[in-house]
Amino acid sequence: MANLDQSLLEQAEVICKSRGVRFTPQRKRVYELICANEGASSAYDLLEKLKQSEPQAKPPTIYRALDFLLEQGLIHRVESENSFISCCSCSVNKHYSHLLICDQCGNVTELQDDSLIALLENNAEKHGFRITNHVIETHGTCHKCLGDMKVQDR
Ligand SMILES: [Zn+2]
Ligand SMILES: [Zn+2]
Repeated sequence: MANLDQSLLEQAEVICKSRGVRFTPQRKRVYELICANEGASSAYDLLEKLKQSEPQAKPPTIYRALDFLLEQGLIHRVESENSFISCCSCSVNKHYSHLLICDQCGNVTELQDDSLIALLENNAEKHGFRITNHVIETHGTCHKCLGDMKVQDR
């Protein structure tokens, strides 16, 4: 838990309280595990980690907690990786994010660009298409891994 951002956790607690939803210790623990992981976490990874403090944890335990966190907008699903990241601005109401996914280190960066979403909505509208969800994920190499590669080249 070395790199856990306490303010994120406090913010999540405040959000749940204001919405009148229960941020149970188990849900909080799963959220903490997602926040503490620099990259995205799979349900399997989370279960293995949760078992260290709750040996009786089962897959449904994780899936229920993930459903709750997704519903509250505290985390995002990385669709192409089938994994989860914490939202960088969960106090904002429901939003679509653009994810930059590093294929080298697995790091995921969340970007929010309203003009991009507006463009997508505009395009869909021209086709009389009604949007229910966007999955906007970009794969590549992050600046940190690009830097490492340059060092190796020398
Ligand atoms: Zn977000
Ligand atoms: Zn990387």
